[in-house]
Amino acid sequence: MTSPAPSSGTAPQSLDDWRALADALRPESRAYIADDFVDAVSGETFTSVNPATGQTLAEVASCDEADAEAAVTVARRAFEQGAWSRLAPGSRKVVLLRLADLLEANRHELALLDSLDMGKPVSSALGDMAGAIGCLRHHAESIDKLYGEVAPTAEDSLGLVLRQPLGVVASIVPWNFPMMMTAWKIAPALAAGNSVILKPSEKSPLSALRLAQLTRDAGLPTGVFQVLPGFGHTVGKALALSMGVDCLAFTGSTGVGKQLMQYAGQSNLKRVYLECGGKSPNLVFGDCKDLDRVAEHAAAAIFHNQGEVCIAGSRLLVDNTIRDTFVDKVLAAAERMQPGDPLDPDSFMGAMVDRTQHQRVLDYIRQGVAEGAILRTGGQAMQGEGVNGQGLFIQPTVFDAVTDNMTIGREEIFGPVLAVFGFDTEEEALRLANDSDYGLAAGVWSQDIDRIMRVSRRLQSGQVFVNNWADMDQTVPFGGVKQSGNGRDKSHHSLEEYSDLKTVWMTLDP
Ligand code: NAD
Repeated sequence: MTSPAPSSGTAPQSLDDWRALADALRPESRAYIADDFVDAVSGETFTSVNPATGQTLAEVASCDEADAEAAVTVARRAFEQGAWSRLAPGSRKVVLLRLADLLEANRHELALLDSLDMGKPVSSALGDMAGAIGCLRHHAESIDKLYGEVAPTAEDSLGLVLRQPLGVVASIVPWNFPMMMTAWKIAPALAAGNSVILKPSEKSPLSALRLAQLTRDAGLPTGVFQVLPGFGHTVGKALALSMGVDCLAFTGSTGVGKQLMQYAGQSNLKRVYLECGGKSPNLVFGDCKDLDRVAEHAAAAIFHNQGEVCIAGSRLLVDNTIRDTFVDKVLAAAERMQPGDPLDPDSFMGAMVDRTQHQRVLDYIRQGVAEGAILRTGGQAMQGEGVNGQGLFIQPTVFDAVTDNMTIGREEIFGPVLAVFGFDTEEEALRLANDSDYGLAAGVWSQDIDRIMRVSRRLQSGQVFVNNWADMDQTVPFGGVKQSGNGRDKSHHSLEEYSDLKTVWMTLDP
């Protein structure tokens, strides 16, 4: 079934508007292979459930190895035929800009699909759409402005350095920002001329299938973009082990990232770019000017998207000279960030993605209490005000007096749980911040520019936010160090991941 796109002319404003749009949706739920929507070869399906209400959204095709093989064959053929891979970059740009326009025209529907599928507030999903569209436009616009190189060789030779697409790219993405994570992967990969197979998370497949319809409308040639919904251990693993896939572009957990590197080694040594988990430290020094503003940001850094954020500021490291005052302000901010119906435009937090994740977060909270951290607020499951009492919500939760040997101070919880640590010196703050397997993001709040630069340089992290949390732009790279991964999404640097350098060496007769 295809979904009737809600008209972009009637932008939903209220909870009732969004509910009306949701009632009208008939999401596409089949795999997208070679320009067609098809059932999985096995005929198997899995159920997509709205975690805010417990209601079934769709029975979705559950792809496995057979579907992966079919899609890889089609993608390879498309790449070899060259209708996209050898198309002039300026012509690829035109198609991708058309796709961006289609995403823009259908942004409410796409945001709604993500909100229904994984529980995030629809207003936040709309913000993701702006990021996804901006990402697509950025890479579309840049691809015909990148030049190759002529090497500085002697006169009797010419060394040309060309950039060429890799071939077949499999993008395996998570559920926490379905459309935005997808755009960060597929925009540079398509712009560079690759054939792309997208494997959305089994917890949020619906927007990816709507995107497939839009790529067809935009005029991407057959086989250049395909979508295989299904589970990681079936279709995801098959793509990762495939001899016909040249690159795995992955966003997800560190554990699965490690498996993908093994699969690459067991198969064709495909390149593997990983954007993995985090346990990001947010350092608040005693010289901060506006503690109310800092507290508001520190709370949003962990409670935005229900804490289901790779760069959640989940470890709050506070100078002991201001800790009591500051934590009180964070508690007040948390109070204003309670979960609500994801379709209510005023909700700051929505539902946890599914029952497993809901239980996992509650287990961590219990463990925090058992290990001696002080629970200052939250810690309880909620049914969800104004929904139907079946939702998987959790209160914003703050633990104080966390130490670096506690589980909640070390492991990625991926939920609305903040761990507050105290520190006495800058050196101690840095030691605590860097004492982690992860290195995705870090924050520094201070007015002292010397301290800011000293600390920023020494933080083991892919990005450091100074006097903000998670301010970003399409023009700057995003990625981690240590076990947070090795890839860089966004900016020109991500284009480099989806192309090979080729040297053409000519001997000349001077
Ligand atoms: P996950 O690792 O469980 O799943 C991610 C994707 O991998 C899904 O599509 C899943 O089906 C697939 N997968 C699972 N097992 C697989 C296997 N054996 N072979 C191939 N594919 C497999 O992660 P998740 O729960 O979907 O997402 C949450 C995680 O993602 C968190 O750790 C979060 O920090 C991370 N994340 C990182 C970033 C970043 O940019 N660094 C961004 C968003 C999320």
